[in-house]
Amino acid sequence: MIPYGRQDINKDDIEAVVDVLRSDFLTQGPVVPAFEKSIADYCGVHYAVAVNSATSALHIACLALGVGEGDVIWTSPISFVASANCALYCGADVDFVDIDPQTFNMSVECLSVKLEQAEKLGNLPKVVIPVHLCGQPCDMERIHALSLKYGFKIIEDASHAIGAKYKNRPVGNCEFSDITVFSFHPVKIITTGEGGMAVTNNEILAKYLRLLRSHGITNNLLDMQIHPTDEVWNYQQVLLGFNYRMTDMQAALGLSQMKRLDDFVSTRHLIADRYDETLSNLPLQLSEHLYEAYSAHHLYIIRIKKNKRSITQRKLYDLMNASGVGVNLHYIPIYRQPYYESKGFSPGYCSEAEKYYKETLSIPIYPTLIDKQQEKVICCLTEIFK
Ligand SMILES: *Cc1c(COP(=O)(O)O)cnc(C)c1O
Repeated sequence: MIPYGRQDINKDDIEAVVDVLRSDFLTQGPVVPAFEKSIADYCGVHYAVAVNSATSALHIACLALGVGEGDVIWTSPISFVASANCALYCGADVDFVDIDPQTFNMSVECLSVKLEQAEKLGNLPKVVIPVHLCGQPCDMERIHALSLKYGFKIIEDASHAIGAKYKNRPVGNCEFSDITVFSFHPVKIITTGEGGMAVTNNEILAKYLRLLRSHGITNNLLDMQIHPTDEVWNYQQVLLGFNYRMTDMQAALGLSQMKRLDDFVSTRHLIADRYDETLSNLPLQLSEHLYEAYSAHHLYIIRIKKNKRSITQRKLYDLMNASGVGVNLHYIPIYRQPYYESKGFSPGYCSEAEKYYKETLSIPIYPTLIDKQQEKVICCLTEIFK
C-alpha cells in the first residue's frame, strides 16, 4: 500500500537520537534549546518554544494571548480538529470562516464580511487562526490588515507549512501574526515522532509560552511573583501550566531533520509539479496559487469535477484504496464532527467547505515516494477516469 504521507528517517537521524540516549539528559537537556534555535534561525523569528505537539502549542498560544471564557476564536472549517479544539480547552467559543474555493484556505473575503457583521453585533473574535492548508500560506498580509482594523490577534496554524514561504520570506517569521505553530507529527514536513513548536517575536508571549509548557514554574528570580523566601526559593509556580515539554530525543531527531528541510520541500515540489502536469487532462481541479507563495506541499489535493464516468469521491476513494494507493480526505468540516454538531453547528454552515469535502481527496506525496510509485498513482487515476 502506498500511503498518503510518510516520514523520511536516515542514519544521521538515528545516530542523533542514540547519542542523546547515551548522554546525561533525556529531557530538559541541551538539545531542546539547540532545536529551538535552529527553527528560530531558519524562520527569522526571535523566540521558539518546543512542545510535545502542535495541539499543545495551539493551546498555550491561545492562553498566552489571554483567551478565556467569553472569548470567541475563528478558524477555518477545513482543517484538523486541533485548530478549533484549542479554543474550547480555554473555555472560549469557536466559530468558522468559510474557505476560498480556489486555494481551499480561509477566504479573506468571507473573513472581512463576517468581521463587519460581528462588529455590529459586538462579538468580534479575540483570535483568528488561519491554517496554511497543504502547506500553502494564507494571504497573511490581508488578514493582518484586518486584524489592525478590528483588533484581533493572529495565530498561524502552520502545522503543514514549515519550509514554506510567503512573499519570499519564511512562514514562521511572524511578520503578520503574533504566534506561529508547527507540527512534527510523522506525516508532516519534518518529524520528531510527536512534537510541535510555537514561535513569536514578542518577548512577553515567549515567556508565557515557556511557563505554560512546564507547569507554570519558573526558577528565574525576575519572574518570581513573591520575593524568594526560605520556603519557596529554588522555584515558584506562578500560574497554572502543563507538562507539554519535548524530550531531548525528540529534539535531536528534529535538529537532524532540519538539515534536510529544504531538500524535503524541493522534492515535494518535484512530485507536485509532476502531478500538476500529468493530471491536468483528467476531470480534476488542482489547487491554485493566487498570490506570491511557495508551498511546503504537505498534501496534494485533487477535486473531482463532473465526469462522464460519474466517478464520485466515495467511488474514487474505494477504487484507489483497492488498487493499493492510499488516498485520504483532508478534511471533513470540523463543525460536521459529531462533537461539534452536538454544540449546535448545523450541516451546511459553510457552503464552500461543504462542497469541498464532498469532492476532494488527497493523493500520496512525501519525499521518499519514488517515481515508480508516483507513476502507479497517476496510472490508477487515469484508468479510473478513462
Ligand atoms: C497535524 C495538525 C495539527 C496537530 O498537530 P499535532 O502535532 O499532531 O498535535 C494541528 N493543525 C493542523 C492543521 C494539523 O494538520
